Amino acid sequence: MKVVSSHFLISNIISIFCLIMLPSTSYAARDFSVLIDPGHGGSNDNGTNGTLNGTTYYEDNLNLDYANNLYSKIDNNSSHPFRSFQTRIADVELLNTDRVKMANNVSGTEKDANDDYIPSGGVDIFLSIHCNGGTASNPGTETLYYETSDAGMKLATIVHQFFMKSVRGVFSSANSRWIKYKDITVLHNTVMPAILVETDFMCVQDALEAMITSDYKNAVGTGLNDALLLVDPGFKNYCWGFT
Ligand SMILES: [Zn+2]
Repeated sequence: MKVVSSHFLISNIISIFCLIMLPSTSYAARDFSVLIDPGHGGSNDNGTNGTLNGTTYYEDNLNLDYANNLYSKIDNNSSHPFRSFQTRIADVELLNTDRVKMANNVSGTEKDANDDYIPSGGVDIFLSIHCNGGTASNPGTETLYYETSDAGMKLATIVHQFFMKSVRGVFSSANSRWIKYKDITVLHNTVMPAILVETDFMCVQDALEAMITSDYKNAVGTGLNDALLLVDPGFKNYCWGFT
């Protein structure tokens, strides 16, 4: 006769209970906050650029389109676990130190570009969106985090995979440069898990051709939003080690 130990039974019961508890429905809508940060902005800081068929496209404008797409996806979903904030919603200059100040909400009275108050103690996640440029022998997308931020690395790991899956749906040859640590002001000085997504290289013609389309912009928003929907359930309580 097969003997099933009580320990085996109890551990299985606990496992089943945990699986039942996993769905994000155990989290209220807007429990968490994300500050979406379209990189660069204003006439003095366009970021990188790329030219296609005689037209030059600038990074700061694309970053804003990507950020707006993500913001709308979160804002339009009333049951979304995140509340979204944006560092800028127009083509205006914004210092990186001011982006950090907004994220951390040290003064306690910081507002985002929509004039919404940042939560006390700062947002839960900082998510900066950029395009890459210059020269690229190995172009593609990458997600950056700060070297000593364990939570940032874990967040980058999750976000990068969802992001890649989504953009490859509209740009099949998109290459992944994976996640990397980098010492950047907005990653170094923010106090919450912070990442910077580099969508692709504007200097690469086929990449730029994809990056300026509404399909690609929507894919960026979709990938990042999908990641945030996954991050929520494990965010503070068990899976990913955030504290
Ligand atoms: Zn940039």
